[in-house]
Amino acid sequence: MECIFCKIISHQQEADIVYENEQFIVFKDINPKALIHFLIVPKKHIKTINDLKEEDRELVSEMIFLAKKLAIEQEIVEKGYSLTFNVGRGGGQIIDHIHLHLMSGEIKNE
Ligand code: AMP
Ligand code: ZN
Repeated sequence: MECIFCKIISHQQEADIVYENEQFIVFKDINPKALIHFLIVPKKHIKTINDLKEEDRELVSEMIFLAKKLAIEQEIVEKGYSLTFNVGRGGGQIIDHIHLHLMSGEIKNE
């Protein structure tokens, strides 16, 4: 298994995990671009947004609702936050396992 996020999911690779349930794992980005920078990762290995199938509709919806729940817990609802999917190398995607970036506070844009 070469996927680093799959290794984090299977606890073979360390990460600063902030939330986990049956479908998702959430951990802190190792190279944060904001004061809060979480990666919301489905446990199902899907390469990019382009690879989503009809059966993944519910998963993607759950991902956004999880982001909202975490934003409430982190008390960043008033301040605001950014939710980003990078897609493909040209879109800034480095890890080929879909993940939603949740960022808030002093967000660095490249
Ligand atoms: P992307 O550019 O959208 O593919 O985002 C990948 C993100 O994963 C980057 O922001 C990296 O800093 C982050 N990242 C890479 N490896 C790890 C790791 N082992 N633990 C936590 N975050 C990571
Ligand atoms: Zn994976």
